[in-house]
Amino acid sequence: MPKFTNDQIRNIAFQVLRAAGASDGNARVVGDHLADANLAGHDSHGFIRITQYVEDIRNGRIAAKAEPTVAKDAGGLVQVDGNGTFGQVVAAKSTSLAVERARQNGVATVTMTNLDHTGRIGTYPEMAAASNMASIMVTGVVGGASGMNVAPFGGTSRKLGTNPIAIGFPYLSGSPMLLDFATSVSAEGKLRVYRNRGHLLPSEWVIDKNGEPSNDPNDYYDGGSILPLGGVESGHKGYALSVMVALLGAVAGGLGFPEQDFARGVSGSSITVIDVGGLASEETIRAQVGRMVDVIKDTPRAKGAGAVLYPGEMEANTRRERLADGIDIEQATWEPVAALIEEMGLADSIGPVE
Ligand code: NAD
Repeated sequence: MPKFTNDQIRNIAFQVLRAAGASDGNARVVGDHLADANLAGHDSHGFIRITQYVEDIRNGRIAAKAEPTVAKDAGGLVQVDGNGTFGQVVAAKSTSLAVERARQNGVATVTMTNLDHTGRIGTYPEMAAASNMASIMVTGVVGGASGMNVAPFGGTSRKLGTNPIAIGFPYLSGSPMLLDFATSVSAEGKLRVYRNRGHLLPSEWVIDKNGEPSNDPNDYYDGGSILPLGGVESGHKGYALSVMVALLGAVAGGLGFPEQDFARGVSGSSITVIDVGGLASEETIRAQVGRMVDVIKDTPRAKGAGAVLYPGEMEANTRRERLADGIDIEQATWEPVAALIEEMGLADSIGPVE
């Protein structure tokens, strides 16, 4: 398995996306996002996405030079039109705007429509937390055949996206409290990672095309569906959460836009930022969250379990380790990117990578 530094991943992603047609600014935002997803331990949303985005630029799904614009501005509630560009570019701009407006109003929501994949959405609550603000980010996909991968509870076909939610609250510098996950048992990208490594899933995360529970990632790619969070037994919870994420993301994001077509599929996002810094100083917030963490961690460990972590601690620990040790990228993920580097004539400017 080749090993890369964070800077190598940033540089490869930047150069390949730019050569595929992205503007310098957009390629930089997305390249940094992908490298940071690997750093945070979410390989499903890092380097492995380069080929997907190149393909989407080439087939016209991503407007790689476009910039997001404000479509409607009601002060504490803003609607952003992504104009078809990278979700990471739209979400980063929307988060900055929401932070700015929350500073003025105490709370602000920015909805996003007409944007591509938003990537590791924990990135945006992390941005807000760096400004001492709490936030909730959602990305929802609902509707027809394309972009859908999750079966509703009790159903056997794909009707929802993996519809992630991320909630952040300021805590330690560079390590906020962070919930960041799909409302399905797993992100779809994680199935790709298991498939590329030739591994079975830890348990029955998917159903096959006949609706039978399975731990084989290939059953998903052969017409199956991912189960909602909670799986076969308790999937009603993940399913309900997914529907609400679809409402706050896909539906709210596109409200008032005439082209919403649920038969074909609709996607969108929103971020709500709360200026908790307006309630207490940064030191007070840190101290109170810290006391809560101490109480939670002060528990006997379950048999065979590792340390009790606070939400977001896994990402902070992995970031520290990977900045020091580098990031392993499996051969099956590296090879198609290496082929693009060759095809685009970038080998010399990228330099030796293995
Ligand atoms: P996951 O199952 O890896 O869960 C991650 C969350 O669990 C994080 O908040 C992490 O801090 C926390 N966590 C992990 N181990 C923990 C432990 N031992 N104790 C306490 N907390 C712990 O997440 P996932 O559902 O596989 O999603 C992975 C990534 O995929 C996320 O970054 C998500 O944003 C992204 N995603 C994006 C999209 C999209 O369309 N943009 C769709 C789905 C998922």
